Amino acid sequence: MKLLHPSAALYNVTDITTDMLKEMGIDAILLDVDNTLAPPTEKTPYEGVREWISEITGAGFSVVICSNNFYKRIKPFADSVGLDCVAMSCKPLPFGFIKAKRKLHEKPRSVLVVGDQIYTDVLGANLAGMKSVLLQPRSEEKGFSIYIRRKMEKKLRKKLYKDEVK
Ligand SMILES: [Mg+2]
Repeated sequence: MKLLHPSAALYNVTDITTDMLKEMGIDAILLDVDNTLAPPTEKTPYEGVREWISEITGAGFSVVICSNNFYKRIKPFADSVGLDCVAMSCKPLPFGFIKAKRKLHEKPRSVLVVGDQIYTDVLGANLAGMKSVLLQPRSEEKGFSIYIRRKMEKKLRKKLYKDEVK
């Protein structure tokens, strides 16, 4: 099912380069937080993430955080990395993406959604007509709903990463 396929499948957010973004025709990025920029519930981003954000924004790309997590989790994190944010975005529904798009500096031609989940980040991007990069979750996760979603995405994720060498 094409709605579940990302434009690209990578390992870490820091694997996304400015050259890649230019090649994809992207001018704005909507970033997930948990298991994308930082371990779930943790305040400190993964190694290299701060530098990566500086590099991307410095190259002129407009970046906004768009997460399904609560405002009290997302706002302090977004402040700490110097980005604007939308919390409780209800991905895969389009409301959060629409709200986040309004926060971008300029009207984007092409928006890239970056996240670690097929059934929220990738599906949401495809439903909203945006491109997407799927990442590998890097930290341990707790909770029944994420357990189910990971089980559901297992087969497709395996296929998407099959030919990737890392
Ligand atoms: Mg996530």
